[in-house]
Amino acid sequence: KKRRRRMKKIAVLQGDYIGPEIMHAGLEVLKLASENTSFKYRIYNYPFGGEAIDRYGEPLPEETLKGCQDSDAILLSAIGGPRWDKKRVRPETGLLEIRKHLGLFANIRPTMINKVLAEKSPIKAEVLEGTDFVIVRELTSGIYFGKPRELDAKLAIDTSSYKAEEVERIMRVGFEMSRHRKKHVTVVDKANVLATSKLWRKVAEKISEEYSDIKIDYCYVDAAAMKIITQPNSFDVIVTANLFGDILSDEASVLTGSLGTIPSMSVGVRGPSLYEPIHGSAPDIAGEGIANPISMILSIEMMLRESFKEYEIANNIAQAVEKTIEKRFLTPDLGGVATTNQVVKEVIKNLKG
Ligand code: ATP
Ligand code: MG
Repeated sequence: KKRRRRMKKIAVLQGDYIGPEIMHAGLEVLKLASENTSFKYRIYNYPFGGEAIDRYGEPLPEETLKGCQDSDAILLSAIGGPRWDKKRVRPETGLLEIRKHLGLFANIRPTMINKVLAEKSPIKAEVLEGTDFVIVRELTSGIYFGKPRELDAKLAIDTSSYKAEEVERIMRVGFEMSRHRKKHVTVVDKANVLATSKLWRKVAEKISEEYSDIKIDYCYVDAAAMKIITQPNSFDVIVTANLFGDILSDEASVLTGSLGTIPSMSVGVRGPSLYEPIHGSAPDIAGEGIANPISMILSIEMMLRESFKEYEIANNIAQAVEKTIEKRFLTPDLGGVATTNQVVKEVIKNLKG
């Protein structure tokens, strides 16, 4: 007998400019891909970002925060843009607040190479072959938040600090991710110089004992920066500190040849994770119906995998996106002439079952 599963609550923050366009596209794919499966969900829309400032005077209204806290996962498209640039309250403040309230401490960005898109990458196709890794970046600590912080005319101080428990929880995220991947964790640090990095290694070593089937190795951040370019296929899961992760994530996004295809996930201390494309709200193309929906579709795919363990549906969506790109249904940012709708239709057509 099949166990009846609870209906999942998905909080949807459709955001500004191209936000609603790509969110609509993504949800259409989700609807069709979960039809006739045991995965049941309900969508709850909440105002957030610029849209919420216009309607309620604040980017994160109480109702939105409550709805997010009460959800099983949060989908966000993109917020902000020139319309609110001169306003006293900024849409981006909403994002900082939601991160704080949900304790989002880990940010995860995948880097996957598609054969067609690889042509647009500045790196040679044969070097990119087989590249499929994620960067797990610590988001709430390290040198971005350490105290003391001082700035004088003749002296400035930033402080890098990490508690063992902060390192431990991010390591666990990395090892858990690797379980369903290539079972290989690389800790990127600067342990030949930094005390915090020495702690990272010690904690990583301890946690790795609980994951005996997963290979762990270590790489200095300077070497890692080179290796992401020269041997990108040698990584599976990279776990790293706030500053290093910030830099390496942007470096890695260049490999794929496009902003419009990359999703991301932020993991909370408790409660739901948040999924969003890495790009912004693209005000320059909003309303034209040509925004690339793939980053949003893959954000939803990531949600199915990581929050709901719906691997079959996730795999189905991933292969449908892959086929769509292979058949060159590409939006203008990828050098094609397809509209958002045409890409969505093609993805849906390529779904199995
Ligand atoms: P942020 O809001 O993070 O500061 P940004 O100002 O760096 O973002 P984006 O909004 O990400 O800029 O847009 C950068 C460029 O990429 C723009 O030309 C935009 O049109 C394009 N772009 C971003 N996302 C997409 C997408 N999904 N489809 C098509 N083009 C996109
Ligand atoms: Mg922008």
